[in-house]
Amino acid sequence: MSQAKPNPFENALEQLRIAAGYLKLDEGIHQMLAHPKREVTVSLPVKMDDGKIKVFTGFRVQHNDARGPFKGGIRYHPNVSLDEVRALSSWMTWKTSVVNIPFGGGKGGIICDPKSMSPGELERMTRRFAFAIAPIIGPYKDVPAPDVYTNAQTMAWIMDVYNMINGVMSPAVITGKPIALGGSLGRDRATGRGAVFVTVEAAKVKKLDLKKATFAVQGFGNAGSNYAEILQEHGPKLMGASDSSGAIMSKTGMDAGKLVAYKEKTGSVSGFPGSQPISNAELLQMDVDILSPAALENQILPDIAKGVKAKIVAECANGPTTPEADKILAKNGVFVCPDILANAGGVVVSYLEWVQNLERIAWSEDEVNSMLEKKMIGAFKDVHDASVKYNVDMRTGAMITAVGRVAEAVKGLGLFP
Ligand code: NAD
Repeated sequence: MSQAKPNPFENALEQLRIAAGYLKLDEGIHQMLAHPKREVTVSLPVKMDDGKIKVFTGFRVQHNDARGPFKGGIRYHPNVSLDEVRALSSWMTWKTSVVNIPFGGGKGGIICDPKSMSPGELERMTRRFAFAIAPIIGPYKDVPAPDVYTNAQTMAWIMDVYNMINGVMSPAVITGKPIALGGSLGRDRATGRGAVFVTVEAAKVKKLDLKKATFAVQGFGNAGSNYAEILQEHGPKLMGASDSSGAIMSKTGMDAGKLVAYKEKTGSVSGFPGSQPISNAELLQMDVDILSPAALENQILPDIAKGVKAKIVAECANGPTTPEADKILAKNGVFVCPDILANAGGVVVSYLEWVQNLERIAWSEDEVNSMLEKKMIGAFKDVHDASVKYNVDMRTGAMITAVGRVAEAVKGLGLFP
């Protein structure tokens, strides 16, 4: 694509501005919500396997905690930037609000190329990062979680450092942990599962028969592959998929479970038997009923949006659609289930994990999944009701719902001093 990729934080501010307009928000409150409460940048000297020291840069941005402790993942990626983390932290504030759980929003990231690092290097970098942010995290302060290229093991290392520094055993400081360390059953698949609950509701609105439907997924990682596997249980056929190595399509449909196994074995979706390679743009513009961008932000740009044929876009990724592209999708009648709603399943089960840790209890996977279903369907209804009431698209409906709740909390707390 030749189009310049917009700054994700500017996208986030534009989405906030639109919601603030509908809510007739006081300009002072609008400005408070436009500025993250705290931004921390840390240098992370790490001894690499060759004996040399390399200094990485990491961030933790705490956007808003009026409704509860800051909450949000930690991302390892070469393109991490302060503005990206700012955007992601504000989307977390809106996401925890839209599903009405008692958290605020935060996000972290380290500029690094995790694929080129050894497990030992990743562990040393993670532990150093945990040490650097330890003073500002905690079960009632800020509760991190996994994001792109971080996982349950990463969370265990962070928890271990936090606990050693503070002389406690505090599993509630982080979510997305291994089950053996207080992780919740159902957390690993929660984002994909939550997005499926939302897709099923969207299909009812659009009168789409899922038994005959087709879909494509951009980014076959944790969120995307679980979405594909669980969605196909409802009937739709997977026609296209991609990861960082490329995109593929099949004329007859692919079994998502077999594609997961193939990617686990070979490291990518490319070359899956019976598939043929296509470009990223072709994947996003495939003639399918449902499209899920599940990779990174700024993927559905205006030129791509013009050719999107899907009836429903379920945003498993954060920020995959730019505001300009959003307008085109809305004009073309595409029903977009926005990121802060569609991918909120992860943070809902993170919340359930946190509650289990604080209460020292453990729920079964069925109990967790049924609480997740209730939350996601309730949130879909709130957002859809707002979009009907204000006669706006689902993203604006979601932002109106979320920003309205946070603004009320901020107003209720008043201003210090
Ligand atoms: P992941 O690392 O498990 O997967 C990311 C996938 O995207 C990988 O398969 C990678 O190869 C692929 N990818 C990277 N660049 C790509 C590109 N240019 N084109 C196509 N594919 C590409 O990460 P994840 O946790 O699944 O996160 C994916 C998205 O979902 C992110 O935007 C993340 O913020 C969002 N998200 C994840 C969760 C969660 O619980 N995992 C929750 C909410 C939102």
